Amino acid sequence: MSLPGRFRFAIIGSGPVGKLLIASVKQHPRIEYVQYEAETLSLRPSFGYGIGPQTFATVRILNPPIWKKILEQSFTSPYWMHFLHATDDNVKLPAVAVTEELGVYGRIGRQELMEMLDDFAPRDHEVKYGMRMKDVNRGENDRVKLSFEDGTEDVVDAVWTCDGMNSMGRKLIQGDAYESAEYSGIICFRAKVETGKVEAAVGEVLASKTHMFIGGSGYFVLIFPIFEAKYVNIVGFTRENEFKKRERAWKTQLSDMLAYFPGANRTLLKLLELIYKEQDCQCLDLMVMKKLGLFYNKELRMTSFGDAANGMPPHMGGSMSTGFIGVTTFLYQELNPRIESLSPQASNAEIAEIVMEASLEYEEKHRPLAQKLCDYSIEQGDIFTGGVIDIDEITRRPKSLWEAATLQR
Ligand SMILES: Cc1cc2nc3c(=O)[nH]c(=O)nc-3n(C[C@H](O)[C@H](O)[C@H](O)COP(=O)(O)OP(=O)(O)OC[C@H]3O[C@@H](n4cnc5c(N)ncnc54)[C@H](O)[C@@H]3O)c2cc1C
Repeated sequence: MSLPGRFRFAIIGSGPVGKLLIASVKQHPRIEYVQYEAETLSLRPSFGYGIGPQTFATVRILNPPIWKKILEQSFTSPYWMHFLHATDDNVKLPAVAVTEELGVYGRIGRQELMEMLDDFAPRDHEVKYGMRMKDVNRGENDRVKLSFEDGTEDVVDAVWTCDGMNSMGRKLIQGDAYESAEYSGIICFRAKVETGKVEAAVGEVLASKTHMFIGGSGYFVLIFPIFEAKYVNIVGFTRENEFKKRERAWKTQLSDMLAYFPGANRTLLKLLELIYKEQDCQCLDLMVMKKLGLFYNKELRMTSFGDAANGMPPHMGGSMSTGFIGVTTFLYQELNPRIESLSPQASNAEIAEIVMEASLEYEEKHRPLAQKLCDYSIEQGDIFTGGVIDIDEITRRPKSLWEAATLQR
């Protein structure tokens, strides 16, 4: 509920990172939050995420009840990946486990995760859907004016922008130094397929565990169960040098799609045919930010999180989890302890001061780690699409990601 005089935060974007922020920030009687989401539906149709040990570890530190729920709801295994050769059935490749110390590797549907995070938002929290933020300016009385595409405005005291890879918030924060995300040279075809259909086509083992087909020239294919194993998430990643900027609904001929996976063995071809037949099969251009810019703008009182701050290609399953690690650094280490030490009558100027301190500390601590993980995820894409089957080389960078949440604490 909006009350006059309270310090008002706007959270832009209600993806997993915006939801984790509102679910985990300490409440204070003089602070209120409003969240704006561009989409008109509260949930977008979507597929599955890898929840590596680093994601579990960071959420466990930040918000133990959410950690418990994600662990309960994810499809978990001691194994990160069961590798298969994409073209040659005679080449046997190993399964790679995460170490006992790090725990388990999980998988979850984006929709499941988003619904679950919503349950942890404060009871009276308001998300305003269908509101696309287009500008932020310094307003009167030390406040900040937000403008939306529909012509409406809001006046707030600080902004947390969690608006994804193509973030408007990042552009505003970085000003003249801003460089937009660029095309990574890799696209993916993805769909979720009913488990029964996958079992009928390629057998129960493939449908029930996480597998990756590697060793092909220019591509790799990932498959894992989601939604309590009712569906299987299948993603075919493939190199395409030219950035064709296709619409999400773009459809090609089956033969054209299969041409992106030269030499694919019979099992893999069946999987690719399965995703092609699904109505929700999408082709995505994967974007990348090679050099991460600033996360905070003092003048606009605006801080970026998640893909808006540190979006990276999904080849190590680490973009969202790096966002979660950033939220943990910001809230658990910086802002929440400062909010706890405020008096219940704290002034807006005092609150503005602690938000600025926490944002600067977050940027200083999180940006170098995020940059390293971003570099690794780009390299991992080159390895997976480069036909590499040396397991030590394949696991080196993901292992470093798995430890990232604990190293930063
Ligand atoms: C194929 C693929 C597979 C992936 N697999 C994994 C994985 O296994 N593990 C992992 O950790 N990560 C993975 N990721 C990355 C993951 O999807 C992102 O890191 C995660 O979604 C980032 O969350 P976010 O909340 O920062 O941004 P988003 O999920 O992009 O959410 C941003 C939200 O902001 C809204 N928005 C955008 N602009 C505005 C605006 N101007 N005003 C208001 N609202 C706005 C959007 O509608 C959206 O709801 C994958 C990504 C892809 C593409």
